[in-house]
Amino acid sequence: MLFTSTRGRQSVAPAETITRGLADDGGLFVPVEIPRFADPLSERMCSLSYNELAREILAHYLTDFSAAELERCVNLAYAGNFDSDNPAPLTEVAPGMNLLELWHGPTCAFKDMALQLLPHLLTAAAAKTAPDRTMVILVATSGDTGKAALDGFADVPGTRIIVFYPEHGVSPMQKLQMTTQTGGNVAVCAIKGNFDDAQTGVKQIFSDPGMQAFLEARNQEFSSANSINFGRLAPQIVYYAAAGCQLKKSGRLAPGATFNVVVPTGNFGNILAAVYAKRMGIPIGRLICASNRNHILTDFIATGVYDRNREFHATSSPSMDILISSNLERLLYHLYGDDPEATADLMTQLRTTGRYSVSPAVHQRIRDEFFGGFCDDCATAAAIAHLYREHGYLCDTHTAVAVDVYRQYLDSTGDRRPVVIASTASPFKFPEAVLGALAPSEVAGDEFAMADRLAALTGVPIPERLAHLRELPVRHRTSVEKSGMADFIRSFLS
Ligand SMILES: *Cc1c(COP(=O)(O)O)cnc(C)c1O
Repeated sequence: MLFTSTRGRQSVAPAETITRGLADDGGLFVPVEIPRFADPLSERMCSLSYNELAREILAHYLTDFSAAELERCVNLAYAGNFDSDNPAPLTEVAPGMNLLELWHGPTCAFKDMALQLLPHLLTAAAAKTAPDRTMVILVATSGDTGKAALDGFADVPGTRIIVFYPEHGVSPMQKLQMTTQTGGNVAVCAIKGNFDDAQTGVKQIFSDPGMQAFLEARNQEFSSANSINFGRLAPQIVYYAAAGCQLKKSGRLAPGATFNVVVPTGNFGNILAAVYAKRMGIPIGRLICASNRNHILTDFIATGVYDRNREFHATSSPSMDILISSNLERLLYHLYGDDPEATADLMTQLRTTGRYSVSPAVHQRIRDEFFGGFCDDCATAAAIAHLYREHGYLCDTHTAVAVDVYRQYLDSTGDRRPVVIASTASPFKFPEAVLGALAPSEVAGDEFAMADRLAALTGVPIPERLAHLRELPVRHRTSVEKSGMADFIRSFLS
């Protein structure tokens, strides 16, 4: 397997794809050819454990890793770090409606599914490509990636990790998770800006020649733990295949039938993993892309025009407060028939004018395969309350956006195929919004007081990993202007 840039014609081996994170031309790495399962959802495939399935799927992409390396990485990632042996349980909350719970890992958000694995893939890859170098992981986070990456990389030999988060763009619980992080190789810094500023800053620093020379002189190399790194996407393909198997084994998916997938979307990484799963042969039907008030993707799916010249809104689902969905670039590349010139052209338009429009043929393919919808904070709260009252199921704000958009999808299409809704965070990461949805009059005090009330009200326990944050000292207090990111990095690395 080789990987190529979405904006050029270089070919790179899998290990290098992971260590580099981003191509030199600013494009994202994509597989030259998407592998296909010989017999998707076969009895053999569905008899595999989650770890075995993960090894098998990764082996299709990471062909320069040995079977023993993959086995070691996968076991280190999933064995013992999640609430149970199955890191991604599928819960049927109503007939045909299944929630894929992706938040049973150490930081209580779906990012753990990939970020518990990525550090091991990255160190194994670096051992092949640049044995004595220190990998410097640069992260821009809308809230959950930062903590999941910190947890994954803390004290991993041969790595240092620097996380930038928008000062006012994450929930208090998310912020505490990051600012209390321990580890000799970690740095956490707030920026005065939003997630897009952080992400753009990180991308610029990545390809800045002065910074490259600075690192070179120290035998250091940047890599990314954001979903621009293909090493983040590959582990996410696994749980869509696993969900298909769980549906089939329990008789909820008839032979030859397909199921729909709903994904609460920000950077387009999680839903893109579902696209890859589908291209590999998993019988996925419609891909339902759910957005919050920052509904640039809903508009794009409806009109074929991507236009970021709009107001940015801080919402109750902060991990989706994004106007530049990086991974959409990979989808466009594939929909244009793996055409790097067409993709580079669109990305240049996005950079210079803030908008682009796709060809009518590509727009038609998008409409055939995707459904886009959005809801505001009010509908998000109503979805949390409804799901809890009708089905006794407590979900977080991001998952609630997906649940509401799924309802819209049913209303507009009547398509009652079995559905898998990605449930991306524990409700206790957003106690104010979730408690406010169920019992507005009880919202008072700090995050932990509200989490306690939410637990008392619902009987759902607070994950220990969140509860213990209240005892931890804050270690990271730095906050910089957008323009100060590079200096922060230099001083941490010096
Ligand atoms: C990151 C995140 C999302 C969005 O996922 P993308 O891969 O960026 O589209 C949704 N929900 C939660 C809780 C997240 O942390």
